[in-house]
Amino acid sequence: MLQIKEQLKQLTPYQPGKPIEEVKKEFNLDRVIKLASNENPYGCSEAAKEALQTEVQQMALYPDGYSAALRTKLASHLGVNETNIILGNGTDEVIQIISRSLLDPASNTVMANPTFSQYKHNAVIEGAEVREVGLLENGCHDLDAMLEAIDEQTKVVWVCSPNNPTGTYESGRNLIRFLEKVPEHVLAVVDEAYYEYVTAEDYPETIPLLERFPNLMILRTFSKAYGLASLRVGYGIASEQLIQAIEPARQPFNTNRLGQAAALAALGDQAFIDDCVRKNNEGLKQYYDFCDEQGLTYYPSQTNFVLIDFKRDADELFLELLKKGYIVRSGNALGFPTFLRISVGTKEQNEGFLKTLAGML
Ligand SMILES: *Cc1c(COP(=O)(O)O)cnc(C)c1O
Repeated sequence: MLQIKEQLKQLTPYQPGKPIEEVKKEFNLDRVIKLASNENPYGCSEAAKEALQTEVQQMALYPDGYSAALRTKLASHLGVNETNIILGNGTDEVIQIISRSLLDPASNTVMANPTFSQYKHNAVIEGAEVREVGLLENGCHDLDAMLEAIDEQTKVVWVCSPNNPTGTYESGRNLIRFLEKVPEHVLAVVDEAYYEYVTAEDYPETIPLLERFPNLMILRTFSKAYGLASLRVGYGIASEQLIQAIEPARQPFNTNRLGQAAALAALGDQAFIDDCVRKNNEGLKQYYDFCDEQGLTYYPSQTNFVLIDFKRDADELFLELLKKGYIVRSGNALGFPTFLRISVGTKEQNEGFLKTLAGML
């Protein structure tokens, strides 16, 4: 008998949003719209597509394992040194690298609940104890309770801001007060996967905090606003010392050639990001107006998704929408059994979706 690690038995593989093609076949539909995985409905920058045309000629060659060209451009874009960056096969891999580097069965890790699933998933694989702290009523992290959950054996504390699946964020004041109290032996990870979408005035710029908090690491990605989810490029920003310490846990060719080229080009087209953020805000307003009309509650979002309470079984509503050609995310598996998490689409997609939804309520 093979002896698979005991902790893997309590895990299921990640449940992705249903693919469009599968739903078309299953329900015999011509048109299916996916508002489930917080992808950019406008795709990516034309500059990224052009860069791919050239790069595709070089596919036989291994990528640059250090991602030097992308690293240089990214460092200059962020205003940090190249040595302050670790690139990953999506931010998911950076979360895995952090977990492999710091967690073991003798340690514990502290996170919110509900929050992004991969912090817990990776911690369980490493055999670490997972300490989950419920969100506050307003959807924000209970940072004080998280501090209380930290002890000598805590290795990593995760703050997802904006948080997936609530879309809520931690203010600069609250985050700094929190970081001041996180002990030096604990790595504080702030996951900013939706950074580009944030418009809140009191959302903190965390990069300048790196000098003050050597145990801070910031995560960002090209999968969301940059619209490059399929190419798998994410990154962490931290002190040179911290980056160097976890680099050995990174696979040698973890970010691929196409991803590096597209991300580099995409960084040069900030007008695309600005345009997407503006449209996203208009889209969020469509959802808010709908909720107000229908008397539904939702968490105000700083992301490209919104979590809405329909006060009924989320899986059932999800299935009804699926039959009409709309893939959303049931809150059931996300810790919100009466909510749906809906990614903001184009104006037309949102209109069509909300019309369909209104017919069901
Ligand atoms: C989407 C997402 C990620 C993962 O992004 P990838 O770079 O595609 O792996 C990480 N954290 C949060 C909160 C996310 O929503």
